[in-house]
Amino acid sequence: MLTVPHGWGVHPKGEGRKAVPRVYFIDVTNRDGDQTARIGLAKLQKTVINQLLGELGIHQSEFGFPFSFHEIPYLNANLALQERGAIRPLILEGWCRAIVADVKLALEHTRVRHLNLSISTSDQMLQSKFRARYSRAEVLKMMSEAVDAAKQGGALSIGVNAEDASRTDVDYLVEFAGTARAHGADRVRYCDTLGCDDPFSIYDRINRLAKGGGLPVEAHCHNDLGMAVAASIAGALGCLDAGYDAYINTTVNGIGERAGNADLLSCLLTIRHAPSAQSRELLDPRLDLTKAWRLATYTANAFGVPIPLNQVGVGGNAFAHESGIHADGALKDRRNYELYDCDELGRGEPGVVETGREILTGTHGGAAGLAHVLETRLGVQDPPDERVRETLQLVQLASLSTQAPLTVEELRLIWEHPDLVRPLVTLAAP
Ligand SMILES: [Zn+2]
Repeated sequence: MLTVPHGWGVHPKGEGRKAVPRVYFIDVTNRDGDQTARIGLAKLQKTVINQLLGELGIHQSEFGFPFSFHEIPYLNANLALQERGAIRPLILEGWCRAIVADVKLALEHTRVRHLNLSISTSDQMLQSKFRARYSRAEVLKMMSEAVDAAKQGGALSIGVNAEDASRTDVDYLVEFAGTARAHGADRVRYCDTLGCDDPFSIYDRINRLAKGGGLPVEAHCHNDLGMAVAASIAGALGCLDAGYDAYINTTVNGIGERAGNADLLSCLLTIRHAPSAQSRELLDPRLDLTKAWRLATYTANAFGVPIPLNQVGVGGNAFAHESGIHADGALKDRRNYELYDCDELGRGEPGVVETGREILTGTHGGAAGLAHVLETRLGVQDPPDERVRETLQLVQLASLSTQAPLTVEELRLIWEHPDLVRPLVTLAAP
């Protein structure tokens, strides 16, 4: 049985309405982001993202697919790394289809005990995706059976995902959530799968869903209309106004299917600085936004997708002033033209860019180069030969999986936890 560290527990079912409900973040970069067309992450990169999300103080990472054979070694290794303290105690949760077979596979082959179970709920998808094989009642039955299987298998928290919720009849969504609650689910995920909601529609629909279903709601928004962040915030406020904790699903840099998901940092900054949320002290006190810059840059490199110049908070121009009036105003008082500070996000330290000789460690690296990198990047002096040989093999395998020289985070993970990195880079059971 996994232990949930003190203070980071699951919100117990039945906690019900809160006197002062809060907003919590469930980042889905390692699931929704990773399944994006044309791009993807190596298991070692997903692991470092879990570490960095933990350092940022995010509540939960949806870290993969526990029924999928190639995810299993990575998921179990990450849970073991968390038990060792190498991943801060955020909740590591897996995504499954809401069918008993997926749940059983997940619980049998992994030690993942936090699950989100997903099934389509809109008439559009029941008719055209399921080819009318399942009625609304049958969808409720499949979802209930999956929740029962998860409970019986020892799941510690369960979210039920209504795929295409934004095109689902609200009364049916309420019935879906109420049924899930009766079977022991802890949250319902409102998936704006097509990104078709706007802030006004989603506020109203999630407010009705939370009140009627009697559960905290996760807002899961896509960006097809360019409103994923706005819709997520409005949806969360709708849930809070119903008296329940709200959860926002995000990805780092907004990476996700088609036009992407709600960007993590944009949502955090909106809740901290925008008038509708700012005065309500909604943010989880564990959050440390000074880690945002490192998370954004690591993830951009891992996906091979550069951060746009105008990206919120972490773009190259987010704190740049050139035009005369703006530069003059910012120099007199940065508050004239800046809503928040760059050091609030971990920016401001001068970066070092090697322009001369640089020794990297990667797929074709050797022992001497590795010893040099260990000393200069990690401060390791005169490591034993055997340890260097073992590390070198893992470095080569890791670099093969990421197709890049190793970052400091990756190298540190290999050096400190070679036994748990091995399954990440070989995909063999730990
Ligand atoms: Zn999605």
